Amino acid sequence: MDIPALIAKAETTHTLAKDEIVALLADDAHTDALLAAADRVRRLYVGDEVHLRGLIEFSNTCRQNCHYCGLRRDNAAVVRYRLEPDAVIDLARKAHGYGYKTLVLQSGEDPYYTVDKLRHIIGEIKKLGVAVTLSIGEKTCEEYSAYKEAGADRYLLRIETTDRRLYEALDPGMSFENRLRCLRDLKTLGYEVGTGSLIGLPGQTLAAIADDILFFRQIDADMIGVGPFIPNPDTPLAAAGGGTIALSLKVVALVRLLLPDVNIPATTAMETIDENGRIKALRSGANVVMPNVTEGDYRRLYALYPGKICVGDTPAHCRACIGGKIAAIGRRVAAGHGFRQKRTAR
Ligand code: SF4
Repeated sequence: MDIPALIAKAETTHTLAKDEIVALLADDAHTDALLAAADRVRRLYVGDEVHLRGLIEFSNTCRQNCHYCGLRRDNAAVVRYRLEPDAVIDLARKAHGYGYKTLVLQSGEDPYYTVDKLRHIIGEIKKLGVAVTLSIGEKTCEEYSAYKEAGADRYLLRIETTDRRLYEALDPGMSFENRLRCLRDLKTLGYEVGTGSLIGLPGQTLAAIADDILFFRQIDADMIGVGPFIPNPDTPLAAAGGGTIALSLKVVALVRLLLPDVNIPATTAMETIDENGRIKALRSGANVVMPNVTEGDYRRLYALYPGKICVGDTPAHCRACIGGKIAAIGRRVAAGHGFRQKRTAR
């Protein structure tokens, strides 16, 4: 295929067929042109602002057993923790003090946090005037509805891979159908919905990644987080190869080209495998960064994968560090809540 023509088509029409996406993912000769096109589309549709979301990892306990994840329930090497609701609210107040306008509450699938506990947490945090994003896994529609009524604005639930067989092989006991049901319910309830994929899972093909990108369009996702799969030594995938920064950046770029107005985080996993990974992602289509505002040992214990960055830093240090990096590439930290603005070109 004519790769430069495909890049031009993606930049001007924001549509590509599956085989065209695969061709771009497979091509290594025009990567710079692909990433540059995505950067131009990012600028045109969502501007130079970078939205910071303060990430609170409030429990690393999980009832699920995903093969790729260090928090899986069979991993006895993890020291488990749970923050009490008032401790979560306290972290949120501090994060608000650092200037965060959106807070992301993330945990494993931990039944300790009942609907009542979560309602209390969300309700108190909403009093700060921030947008609240939840990233707490698969729940019933009634539970999602209760969190929404309590004030939650957004929900992150990665599909991880749209290859159903791969999904069900890597997520034992979980069903692809239920994952889709969750995403549908969240959309219907009026959340801003974030999803995304792991890049470089064992057995994942470029065609499957192309399907992921088309799936994001199909469900009209508002946020799309993609990051390289990083094998964790305490999981069944310890010996797997893992994803590369090069392919992950290409996926970020294609997501921006095909879904021009969505929010795309430069993920922490990118920076774990490449010391400049988040900045590279910000220059390849991304417009969001999620600095960690969890404090102390908990930062280290939320170990989805090894080598996670910034585990020894304080929230104040992270805020200043990423702010400096953003300014150094001529971008600026956004002052607003950073909701998706559905739009055509600026
Ligand atoms: S990916 Fe999520 S659901 Fe799966 S084991 Fe890890 S924390 Fe639990």
